Amino acid sequence: MSELVDETRTGFERRYSYAPSGIWSAPGRVNLIGEHTDYNEGFVLPFAIDRRTFAALALRDDDIVRVSSAASDDVVEVRLADVTAGASSLAAVPADGRWAGYPLGVAWAFGQLGADLAGLPGFDVHFDSDVPIGAGLSSSAAIEGALAVALNEVWRLGFDGARLVDVCHRAENDFVGAPTGILDQSASLLSQEGAALFLDCRDGSSEPVDLRLEESELAILVIDTKVTHDHASGDYAARRASCEAAARELGVRALRDVTWPQLLEARDRLDGVTYRRARHIVTENQRVLDTVAALRADGPDAIGDLMFASHRSMRDDFEISTPELDLAVEIALNYGAIGARMTGGGFGGSVIALTPVAAITHVQVAIDGAFAEHGYTGPEMFLVWPSQGARRDR
Ligand code: ADP
Ligand code: MG
Repeated sequence: MSELVDETRTGFERRYSYAPSGIWSAPGRVNLIGEHTDYNEGFVLPFAIDRRTFAALALRDDDIVRVSSAASDDVVEVRLADVTAGASSLAAVPADGRWAGYPLGVAWAFGQLGADLAGLPGFDVHFDSDVPIGAGLSSSAAIEGALAVALNEVWRLGFDGARLVDVCHRAENDFVGAPTGILDQSASLLSQEGAALFLDCRDGSSEPVDLRLEESELAILVIDTKVTHDHASGDYAARRASCEAAARELGVRALRDVTWPQLLEARDRLDGVTYRRARHIVTENQRVLDTVAALRADGPDAIGDLMFASHRSMRDDFEISTPELDLAVEIALNYGAIGARMTGGGFGGSVIALTPVAAITHVQVAIDGAFAEHGYTGPEMFLVWPSQGARRDR
């Protein structure tokens, strides 16, 4: 971890030939349970992971903004005034530097949410990260969050955590154009070490829920299938549209407001596909509440069945799983995990398996073997620990 802090500093110095004034970071996240419930104004239970994106940053004397990343060769340079002028300024960003929309969007969103950016100095920022990109671990919220806490401090904007969530959410939705809920940004900015974040996506309120993994001798194994997804893809939009159609038909503001008996009663009014999409959301919301209750009463040993029920619902009702994800879940459970499910938006990405520490190697070997047997790309597997949200590191 501290190595990456140093590398980020070195990367900054190599690109810009002077030293940054500080280094900030924000983590990736996994969602323990509660998938696609966020934009239905429901409940989610993510936690920040011990993989972070670091931002080395310094203010400038003029209004130039330069952004660079270890993940990209270019340094993208724009005027702050062009960024704050609106999303159309993205046209100023070279086509091969499209990633820069995430950090530039954060600067833009501060202005959208009430910060007076006129007359503020530009900045140079360099990012480095050990959050895998596009693996469903939210590298996008990590890069947004790292810059948001940095700018909030150096520009002395005084936004609290909830408003920083809005800033990052706005950047990703309205500047980058990737429609996402507030789950990723909330987890990356607000999580506490050792705990999951129980988040109500209707009002943005959240509270930590202790995970107590270590005392239960459990760990969370991520199995990254290396099948990459695209959040802005038509599939994601189609799921959102189905949920909105179901809510409209049921006469509610969002599926959050629908109970299981109400959905059953309305079954004939929905076509088969829309009904199954809605059933996933309604049951998944309840599973989040049940998971929080189980964690508080009995600890992580008690949530395995809820995790698998969530996976089945995403596989069969919401239809966002892939054969690779299904295989990883099946093998993990067969070889000792007490719960497993795909996590993230779906159509690829990662599985999380709640696994007794003593069984981790066994599970990993079995998954490697099964993927090889099926001719799938070898997955990447690593443990994640619930970690602190965005912060200043140096
Ligand atoms: P995920 O958030 O699941 O990793 P997304 O598609 O939401 O996947 O976001 C990934 C995109 O975010 C990348 O394609 C890139 O544009 C941008 N990004 C994330 N982290 C970095 C980084 N460290 N450097 C440059 N771009 C990044
Ligand atoms: Mg993302």
